[in-house]
Amino acid sequence: MFSNQILKNRLNHYYQLLHNSTLAYYLRCKAIPAAFNHSQDVNELWDIHSRLKQKFEENKMLIPPTIFEKCEGNSFLDLKIELAQRLLKSCEFCENLCNVDRTANQHGFCGVYDESYISSTFLHMGEEPPLIPSGTIFFSGCSFECVFCQNEDISTAGKNYPIQKAGRKVTPKDLADLATTIYNRGAKNINYVGGDPTPNLHTIISSLKFQTANVCQLWNSNFYNSLLALELLSDLIDLWLPDFKYGNNECAEKYSKIKSYWDVLRRNFTYIYEHGSRNIIIRHLVMPGHLECCSKPILKWISENVPEVIVNIMRQYHPAYLVSQEHYPEINRRVTIAEMQEVFSYAEDLGLEFQSVS
Ligand code: SF4
Repeated sequence: MFSNQILKNRLNHYYQLLHNSTLAYYLRCKAIPAAFNHSQDVNELWDIHSRLKQKFEENKMLIPPTIFEKCEGNSFLDLKIELAQRLLKSCEFCENLCNVDRTANQHGFCGVYDESYISSTFLHMGEEPPLIPSGTIFFSGCSFECVFCQNEDISTAGKNYPIQKAGRKVTPKDLADLATTIYNRGAKNINYVGGDPTPNLHTIISSLKFQTANVCQLWNSNFYNSLLALELLSDLIDLWLPDFKYGNNECAEKYSKIKSYWDVLRRNFTYIYEHGSRNIIIRHLVMPGHLECCSKPILKWISENVPEVIVNIMRQYHPAYLVSQEHYPEINRRVTIAEMQEVFSYAEDLGLEFQSVS
């Protein structure tokens, strides 16, 4: 268990937000003017974005913490909305890099068209204790195909059955209204999850235009985002809750059907450690028989490269979805107590702050 002091140091921005003594990142983005127009070339827009991003990062500690004044005309948030819409036309939200035009009734690996569907929204009491009650919004569809998926009813939407049957269709305004409603009911954060939120990045970013509450925006993801997606998100997200499942590319390809996982995840963790809020809780799900190939390389890499994060080592794995004695029999069991103890003592030897966050 963590001491309160460690939590408050490592999740300092989050705790300040809870006490209303700082401003959510998305509100800061609304306050920054952005001189652009919608007919400009996409490369020009990314150049403007880079310049504003640099300014945002230089000034993020200097902006008056609780005063929000929307700028006149287009803002940095408007520019991000425009860039997300451009990316949707040749989708590169995640490293599957499908490059399909989702605005022209196409979908890629995730099965999600341009419209977003939500399977449920509620105050989640099962997340890490500092996060609860968490205003959790479950998007349908996923950029992975995990054979052991524990949420297959929503994550396989668009693949095993039509996305249109996957819940309620939401516009950015609808999503903002949902976020506002759960915030007013006591949510400490707006928790975007799925499936995975990444295919719905455009809807989420656009919804921020309609949100006004000074509340933490939380990205709860498999973290297979493209770098461009992270560039858009890193000035908007207050708290990161990424998974880190596999310690190599081969296990990821075998069990989640995606390529270059280890390379992409290390790149993405390095990026958000250097940019944005640096308030990060990494979830590592221990898998049976995957200590040497996955758990240990992950923990070692974290300790050497992004040491000032919170790590939640999770024991909830259970065989589900496609896993059986016939298919993937090597993971057709729960993790043993001895395996968990071995992972915990390995993390301890590395000096990591870990375990169930409380
Ligand atoms: S979100 Fe990822 S999986 Fe879905 S279409 Fe875009 S690049 Fe492909």
